[in-house]
Amino acid sequence: MRKIAGFAGLLAACACQSAPIATGQTPQAQPVQMQGPQLPASMDFADPTQNLEITTVAPGLRYVLGRNVSSNTIVLDTPAGAVIIDTSRPPASKAHFDLLQSAGVGKAAYVILTHGHGDHTGGVVHWRTMGAKVVAHESFREFLGYQRMLAGFFGRRNAAQFQFAGGGGAVAAAAPAQQGPAANVLGIVPDITFRDTLDLDAGGVKVQLIHTPGETPDHLTAWVPSLKAAFVGDNFYESFPNMYTLRGTRPRWPMDYITSLNKVLALEPEIVIPSHGPAIVGKENVRAQFTKMRDAIVHVHDAVLKGMNDGKDVHTLMAEIKLPPALDVGEGYGKISWSVRGIYEGYAGWFTGDPAAMFPQGRDSVSDSLVKLAGGPKAIADEAMLLIVQGKLVEALHLTSIGLEGAPGDKDVKRARVAAFEALVQASTNRNELGWLNQGLAEARKGLQ
Ligand SMILES: [Zn+2]
Repeated sequence: MRKIAGFAGLLAACACQSAPIATGQTPQAQPVQMQGPQLPASMDFADPTQNLEITTVAPGLRYVLGRNVSSNTIVLDTPAGAVIIDTSRPPASKAHFDLLQSAGVGKAAYVILTHGHGDHTGGVVHWRTMGAKVVAHESFREFLGYQRMLAGFFGRRNAAQFQFAGGGGAVAAAAPAQQGPAANVLGIVPDITFRDTLDLDAGGVKVQLIHTPGETPDHLTAWVPSLKAAFVGDNFYESFPNMYTLRGTRPRWPMDYITSLNKVLALEPEIVIPSHGPAIVGKENVRAQFTKMRDAIVHVHDAVLKGMNDGKDVHTLMAEIKLPPALDVGEGYGKISWSVRGIYEGYAGWFTGDPAAMFPQGRDSVSDSLVKLAGGPKAIADEAMLLIVQGKLVEALHLTSIGLEGAPGDKDVKRARVAAFEALVQASTNRNELGWLNQGLAEARKGLQ
């Protein structure tokens, strides 16, 4: 049996956490801090109603950059009034609307919704007051229905992942989906819909809409030929796509993304304004960035298929599959490993091939036996702390999960779990991962103060 040195000494050697907590001590009560790396403004944790500005990209084309995963609001000025592409989420949507109104936007012809996610549809209610007709793909309503059907589930999951309440996502989860902003966005009825393509005429300015499924099945791209400008919603942003989002989603098929990115490339745009992040300007620049993103998705997709056919399990592939440096598009929002699992299980479903997995008793059904065999929850907590010092943070987290399943509420295990989460938060460079880690940290701290 391994001899475990005193924790004080071990933790002093651990540079991976800011406030080491040894078992036996009670950690200070602290608010959840949104820690981690410097994320791009589109995915940071800032107040999304503050520090907003209008960026002009071409004559008659401007946008407000959405912050903290609220979408941009894009404005195309036409003789018929403004054409608005995406509207952000409450409360940012009202701030975007007010800012644009103060900048002279007084009449809106159309609101084009690139897809039915609430971070894009929150301002529809405001733009309708300027006379805008709402335009979306014909499957938009079905997609809203899917979100409405699971409103309770998504309410909790979104609160944890996005931490919009400024920490303590569980509190935000208490907001019922049947009231307030969620009810507004899930009840939107478009005035105009289409199947494959639609040409809108806005006072002589042609706006072509093209069905481009990817992040969602109802996703569209808007194309303005006179400006050679494409508006691609969430099929492109400053990261590998969130092809599986942790809050839960139906499969987001890689082949849809690839086909849709190819449709955009075929237009040869000189301007692209995605719905998150800044505009991309210059024909060669657009072509290079979109080609790289498409090829990155192709690489991951093909590697998953090869691994599946070679008989590899999903966790092996999550660890193994990486992008070559030439295709590195960043992982600040989506992660390759989540996409690998999303693709694997999208094609094959949940059964792992382990006969034990056929039955309703999960691995947690033997956690109390494991805790007993280990010599009790204190031994589990001690081993978890040792793993943290060794830099095995995820392994430490797993061990505390087993510890709490076998000994619910045990304070030694919870302290070790807090330490594991704190170190993981420090190490994280991904917005969605940070959301869930901070949620886990807040839950682990409960009962320790
Ligand atoms: Zn979005």
